[in-house]
Amino acid sequence: MSFNTLGLSAGLLRAVSEQGYSEPTPIQKQAIPVVLKGGDLLAGAQTGTGKTAGFTLPMLQRLSESNGDKKQRVVRALVLTPTRELAAQVAESVSNYSRYLPLNSAVIFGGVSINPQIKALRQGVDILVATPGRLLDHVSQKTIDLSQVEILVLDEADRMLDMGFIRDIRKVLALLPRQRQNLLFSATFSDEIKRLSDGLLNEPALIEVARRNTASERVAQVVHPVDRARKRELLSFLIGSENWQQVLVFTRTKHGANRLATQLEKDGITAAAIHGNKSQGARTRALADFKSGKVRVLVATDIAARGLDIDQLPHVVNFELPNVPEDYVHRIGRTGRAGNEGEALSLVCIDEHKHLRDIEKLLKREIPRKVIEGFEPDPRIKAEPINQGRGRKPSNGNRGGRGSSSKPRQGNGRPQHKANGNRNHRSGRAA
Ligand code: AMP
Repeated sequence: MSFNTLGLSAGLLRAVSEQGYSEPTPIQKQAIPVVLKGGDLLAGAQTGTGKTAGFTLPMLQRLSESNGDKKQRVVRALVLTPTRELAAQVAESVSNYSRYLPLNSAVIFGGVSINPQIKALRQGVDILVATPGRLLDHVSQKTIDLSQVEILVLDEADRMLDMGFIRDIRKVLALLPRQRQNLLFSATFSDEIKRLSDGLLNEPALIEVARRNTASERVAQVVHPVDRARKRELLSFLIGSENWQQVLVFTRTKHGANRLATQLEKDGITAAAIHGNKSQGARTRALADFKSGKVRVLVATDIAARGLDIDQLPHVVNFELPNVPEDYVHRIGRTGRAGNEGEALSLVCIDEHKHLRDIEKLLKREIPRKVIEGFEPDPRIKAEPINQGRGRKPSNGNRGGRGSSSKPRQGNGRPQHKANGNRNHRSGRAA
């Protein structure tokens, strides 16, 4: 099946072919006709499925069909995303696909100066991609008008809820016209997502393209048991002895990410850290250096890594297992994408055995163990507690994706980690 049969205009088809896409992905095949008809949509799709083009292409088509009606440019489509990186990526797709259409787009997110965003908005924008926190900053400064929005997209809605954005989302919804098209994309369908979609969507079409744990079936996984204090040494050994050139490494905390990147550099391995406390410029630079091969290792926290579009990543390493088992699935989904072979390794110390059991329960299978010679765990070492950060409510006004709320607030209970562990939302993930 080709894109030509989906009812897209010549300008869009040209932009799509310039991206090098010959065939629509399953989500695109299903979502494009539904969105073109103007109905609401509830779609279960993860990053990597092609969901962005799935909603962007028909959205652009609908906007361009009625483009002549308006004298002045106003925001007619609003795409909300949980993270700055995802906002930037979606905005890039919008800009690419709308190349041959008379439509303007802009992206706004926190962590960067608001003034250029105000300027862009003043010049007139048809499609706005935004993270909720910074969007509300613009609302309170009256630099944005959302009263003419025709299409609303919530991208990675489950993540937005995880990050405590529900109140911000509801505030935004209150500013939109009642009559509009709503598209909700989520990797998972929790009760919270169902509640949100019940209130938001009007007789939505339902599309689900990938089962939740598909990555776990596609990716070769292994656990390397190792002592807590020797993880870094083992990681450097694996990178060196296996000659890995591009490795994404996950840590639980921002502090841990920084520390590990510094230590790897000391071992002569180029590394950069990416997390919510880094300036937007530093995050963009780290990602670009990683993609170009200038940096071999990108150390990331879960939320920073969410939505990163890095193709064909051969190796993902869990330097620490995540607090939340679902995050393991998201992490290993960074490798083995689009049919490529991938490998996900977890360095697991005695403190993390419960985390590992929870992950295996979710996967419904055991991950093979492989002890690396010279790194055998010392049986005399006892488990130490890991602070899960569970049971903490998100703080008032928490907008996890923004620079202003991402300062570390408390330690993780381990004396050696002074500034460790930002737990600014319920599930204890680091932003
Ligand atoms: P997404 O799930 O939207 O983040 O897209 C994941 C990746 O798939 C991106 O790198 C897209 O550029 C790519 N992609 C999207 N649609 C297609 C397509 N029809 N054929 C090939 N690649 C695609």
